[in-house]
Amino acid sequence: MSTSSLSDTRSAELYRRALYVLPGGVNSPVRAMRAIGREPIFIDRGSGAEITDVDGNTYVDYVCSWGPLIHGHAHPAVVSAVTEAAVHGTSFGAPTAGEVELAELVCGRMPAVDMVRMTSSGTEASMSAIRLARAATGREKILKFAGAYHGHVDGLLAEAGSGLATAGIPASPGVPQSAAAATVIVPWNDPEAIRTAFAEHALAAVLVEPYPANMGLIPPAPGFLELIRDLATGYDALLIFDEVITGFRVAPGGAQELTGVLPDLTVMGKVIGGGLPAAAFGGPAALMERIAPAGDVYQAGTLSGNPLAVAAGRAALGLLDEQAYLRLSGTTRALADGLREAAGDRPVSVVSTTGLLTVFFAPEPPRDYAGAVACDTEAYGAWCRALLARGVYPPPSQFEAWFPSTAHTPEHIARTVEAAAAAFAEVA
Ligand SMILES: *Cc1c(COP(=O)(O)O)cnc(C)c1O
Repeated sequence: MSTSSLSDTRSAELYRRALYVLPGGVNSPVRAMRAIGREPIFIDRGSGAEITDVDGNTYVDYVCSWGPLIHGHAHPAVVSAVTEAAVHGTSFGAPTAGEVELAELVCGRMPAVDMVRMTSSGTEASMSAIRLARAATGREKILKFAGAYHGHVDGLLAEAGSGLATAGIPASPGVPQSAAAATVIVPWNDPEAIRTAFAEHALAAVLVEPYPANMGLIPPAPGFLELIRDLATGYDALLIFDEVITGFRVAPGGAQELTGVLPDLTVMGKVIGGGLPAAAFGGPAALMERIAPAGDVYQAGTLSGNPLAVAAGRAALGLLDEQAYLRLSGTTRALADGLREAAGDRPVSVVSTTGLLTVFFAPEPPRDYAGAVACDTEAYGAWCRALLARGVYPPPSQFEAWFPSTAHTPEHIARTVEAAAAAFAEVA
């Protein structure tokens, strides 16, 4: 690892240049690594579970592009699918066979999805799913959970005020008061709060990360998803699962297959594009045929169903057979067990499900966003910096999940656990 001062590395030089031409030096905030108190690392290349930065340091990567790379970096099947597609033309703005094939694969896997509309990002997909839900119900309010992330859609960048069920207040300057006020926010895993919210507001939809992973991984308490499903049905609101992270990861058919709770609409992204920009939303034909040109709800995209992205998505999904999930769940379990052992009796808890994991610097796993915020984020940051110095690249924020892939081997896990133990010792 580099031992020279950070300021004379190529990363530092690129960062200085980037600061002049990109806000904060990056194109998406978490990459700046401010949450763990260091400068960003510029990446040169990746292969399998490893990435190499522009200074030649190699890391075992647990970010994997924040979820899309379920087979690691530059998987040969994905690379050749994209290369082959590129030779035939990168975009037509006209239908292609590839998008029909990807749609068939997706509908075959996700129990609650019979028809999809593709987009280029998860943000667009959740924005469009909400528009459809509002059109279908004739209502405007959307319920979301504190600490859940559904992309940077205006109305979803809302914060909870005080009280059990509150109309949102803008979480960012530039978000109209009216957009945030159409969002109702309740704490995750709180049955009373969601009952109250349904009783007090005419909801178009409940938008749920079924296994929330954007406040760190906080699984649903037993019966909680079932309660949301029952309430949505009882009040004629739509249940929307945001499976941008969980889709094709926690099980072949996502969290809806894993839990058996079926949403009315599903938002997908990340793995569906195999590392290229693709996302989608879907549901039963009766709802989806409200989307133009079949129906009257407008939705469009110049690069939607892009040939390169659908080729990558098809290749990635094609590799996700039963063996792949067995391997991914075994790898995740080994990583979770190893990290728990490395932590010893420190006040640290490790939460995981297939393909997802979070190391919380708290003695007990949090049940909701308030619990996640109460973690020792300073200590998490110091531990992350110590891991990076030892060749392991964790998510540089306490409020994100680790994304093990099918490319992570027992040797990667062993190296990670060894580095984690040394990093814990250094931080303590
Ligand atoms: C990443 C993410 C999104 C947004 O997807 P983008 O492609 O970044 O716009 C939406 N929902 C969840 C749960 C996500 O993790």
